[in-house]
Amino acid sequence: MKNQKIEVNGGATAGASSACAISTHGKTCNEQNADHSPSMLDRRQFFSKGLALAATAPLLTHVATSASAAQTGAPVATSPISARAYGTKSTTGPFQAMEIQRRAVGPNDVLLDILYCGICHSDIHQARDEWASWNPTRFPSIPGHEIVGRVTAVGRAVTKFKVGDIGGVGCLVNSCGTCDNCLADREQNCLNGATFTYNSPEPATGGHTFGGYSDKMVVPEHFVVRIPAGVDLAATAPLLCAGVTTFSPIQHWKVASGQRVGVIGFGGLGHIAVKLAVARKTDVTVFTTSPGKIGDAKKMGARNPVLWSDAAALKALANQFDLLISTVPKAYPMQQFVNLLKLDATLVNVGAMEALQQVHGIDLIHGRKSIAGSMIGGMAETQQVIDFCAARNIKADIEVIRPDQINRAYERVVNKDVRYRFVMDMTA
Ligand code: NAP
Ligand code: ZN
Repeated sequence: MKNQKIEVNGGATAGASSACAISTHGKTCNEQNADHSPSMLDRRQFFSKGLALAATAPLLTHVATSASAAQTGAPVATSPISARAYGTKSTTGPFQAMEIQRRAVGPNDVLLDILYCGICHSDIHQARDEWASWNPTRFPSIPGHEIVGRVTAVGRAVTKFKVGDIGGVGCLVNSCGTCDNCLADREQNCLNGATFTYNSPEPATGGHTFGGYSDKMVVPEHFVVRIPAGVDLAATAPLLCAGVTTFSPIQHWKVASGQRVGVIGFGGLGHIAVKLAVARKTDVTVFTTSPGKIGDAKKMGARNPVLWSDAAALKALANQFDLLISTVPKAYPMQQFVNLLKLDATLVNVGAMEALQQVHGIDLIHGRKSIAGSMIGGMAETQQVIDFCAARNIKADIEVIRPDQINRAYERVVNKDVRYRFVMDMTA
């Protein structure tokens, strides 16, 4: 079986049947459609090209080197690859080292040696099954979606990368590529169910995707972004999730110079939101529950950070904000912040993924205020935030740790005690 099929992200297959069945939300997509092109070809045309390619895929696994690899001299892995990973087998952990299999490198795939992987609070929600009502955790759970790695092999159809390049992987590793949302560069909103970097089902094998708490990964090139030369690789990794998640609302709501932006929750996402909004020359206010973070918020450019407990300060800020970005991982009474929105302004919640609390209808009606949500960003937007930050030397404030320190790191994130993102050195 190994030599007759190209395995897709941990095991789903694209063999003669081409029934890849990569999915989320119980829907399946077709692996042929996962063949994304970075070129200017019409995307639908490209997918029919991809179809032909996928049909020949089983043959490719029999050749020792691909055309691209021949150019670089790098061998392409033609069978599943053993990788070291850190995962948990239950909601209570602990994280431990384990061996996993990555799929063989298909024609459109790159093989990455993972250098760094950030720890996002989403990893913690997932590993602890805190999203059970809408995204139950499959075990073993191997999170990680802020991944920077070195390309060590490329499939024969890969054009974007060569061996030795540095690539980044965020929250997505596949999508159907043909639905309206994918065609609009909104792969995260794929109508057929995007494949997320971890915990996405692969019904063809019964397996699920494994994230970046690992030393190797195989990803279609479309879902790998270019990391510009010269950037701080460890401090760039968090941009792949925390960066794009906060960049996307700033883009969507067309935040412009001179506007007032509020960032609620000053953690991994929050501190990057501040840097991005400051780079847009906005007037940024941080709303924090941690007095010890006020100095850092100011250093990053936030004017007059406000403690949630300071009712007088909150009252004084009523009707002043063009955009509020809430990064708090749990629901909380939101009305106190809705009050701060100007006429027609929006509070975009990117943190709490549960029933929101205490928002009064009349207070939205009065002032035509909105509460919105936003999920990461598509691949083009992910590349955009990486390039935007590289050009301005924007990077995350990080604490680099070893993978065997994950358990303690999780506790510190939950206790709001990280300044401001843990990034694991996956080579340690
Ligand atoms: P984080 O580093 O833990 O930061 C969250 C911050 O929120 C904390 O540092 C803290 O800031 C504040 N906070 C935490 N618990 C709180 C509570 N109970 N009440 C009030 N404030 C609290 O987490 P993150 O990695 O930035 O992720 C934040 C959330 O965004 C998570 O739920 C994650 O799953 C979600 N997320 C969503 C997307 C998306 O696409 N929408 C993408 C990535 C992550 P202060 O100390 O300043 O109060
Ligand atoms: Zn994340």
